[in-house]
Amino acid sequence: MTAQPAIREFTAPFIAGPIPGPRSAEMLARQQQRESNARTYPRNLPIAIDEAHGSFVRDMDGNVFIDFLAGAGVLSLGHNHPELIGVAAEQLGRFTHGLDFPTPAKEAFIDAQLSMLPAAMREKMKIHFCGPTGANAVDAAIKLCKTVTGRGDIVSFQGGFHGSSAMGMALTGLVQQKAPVPNGMPGVHFFPYSYCSRCPLGLSPDDCGANCAAFLENTLKDDLSGMAKPAAVILEMVQGEGGVIPATREFVQRIRTVTRELDIPLIVDEVQTGCGRTGTWFAFEHYGIEPDVIVASKALSGIGSPVAIILYNRELDKWAPGAHTGTFRGNQLAFASGAEAVRIVRRDGILQQVRERGKQIEGLLKPLEELPWVHEVRGRGMMWGIELADPVTGRPAGTLARQVQEEVLQKGLILETGGRGGCVVRLLPPLNTSAEVVGTACRILAETISGLLPVPVQPE
Ligand code: PMP
Repeated sequence: MTAQPAIREFTAPFIAGPIPGPRSAEMLARQQQRESNARTYPRNLPIAIDEAHGSFVRDMDGNVFIDFLAGAGVLSLGHNHPELIGVAAEQLGRFTHGLDFPTPAKEAFIDAQLSMLPAAMREKMKIHFCGPTGANAVDAAIKLCKTVTGRGDIVSFQGGFHGSSAMGMALTGLVQQKAPVPNGMPGVHFFPYSYCSRCPLGLSPDDCGANCAAFLENTLKDDLSGMAKPAAVILEMVQGEGGVIPATREFVQRIRTVTRELDIPLIVDEVQTGCGRTGTWFAFEHYGIEPDVIVASKALSGIGSPVAIILYNRELDKWAPGAHTGTFRGNQLAFASGAEAVRIVRRDGILQQVRERGKQIEGLLKPLEELPWVHEVRGRGMMWGIELADPVTGRPAGTLARQVQEEVLQKGLILETGGRGGCVVRLLPPLNTSAEVVGTACRILAETISGLLPVPVQPE
């Protein structure tokens, strides 16, 4: 192979041949031999990765892809952001693992996290460092709310995703993932989410009346509902894995009102939507509400160095010392790069950029709704989904979404799917992706989806 330009010089994908190329194929075969059957991403995205920079990834065969998976939303400033790597490397030489002792890196990180909150919340909130995954922070949030309220039940929402720990899975909609693991956490009650293009209550937008919110309100207030008052309601502002479904404003506000009225803590899971992904620091800001507990993880360090936290109202700080421990709660590299990431987002006006790129994506992809296969294009900021459906039956077209994922990969674009039956093609670009690269990726996607039209109806 002739020498290629450095990965940081790419502004468009470069594909040398069919994917996977020979070296990736060899490593994928070895992976299949040695790694768990539960592995996921490389099944549908069959590449082995050599290096990455910004919004681009190079595989072992020299193919260069636009990466709109970005570590499942972790790499908010792209791969290997030089300034983040710089501060992490400096920290690496100083002190790396600190349990939950105070350190300067941690203090700077806490300052940065609190500074992202709306001003009125900054003094109210405390922070707890959890084990290093989003799921572990979800566990912590549930433990906190159960401890404080003395109640056992939890309200979650259909289509929601909260992680793969035992508790996270119990709160998640994914029936197939839960089915083989009986006896999960009891007491989780699933309620309809404001998924308006497929209203869970079967209503048309004209006679909606936010009945999904009304259903929850009525249940919570009904002394014959069969459900005890819950310890918490846990909610995503935009369901990510569930298919990029932004909650409606009325739905969220009514949930906030009723939970406040009944003294039920509201946990907002911002693992995917946090750190500026939707164009505000936290997605709940779009809704004009104040949650009681915020769960955050993924993009907190900006470089994929794991860290997970909950931020919660100090009035809830009634759990005992050691109530949620974990060895890996003091990742100093993550703290150092995370504080720097917040500084860079401010310095470079990234939140504004996210809003602008979001409008750009909407402008480029929304017209696809004219196509018979496209049920809906929706999203916010740098988080978008295209839901595909059979034009005859209206059923979610997961097979087709898989086909789109595969075809765009062959053209140099890495995308993930999600939603019911995997029928939503999802975009989770780094927040600082240029307008040019966003344009290229959307063109690849739009061409591919337009080209799908002659395909006969796929049975799901
Ligand atoms: N909550 C949400 C909203 C998520 O999107 C995810 C991960 N996709 C999680 C929780 C779990 O995070 P982790 O995989 O780090 O456990």
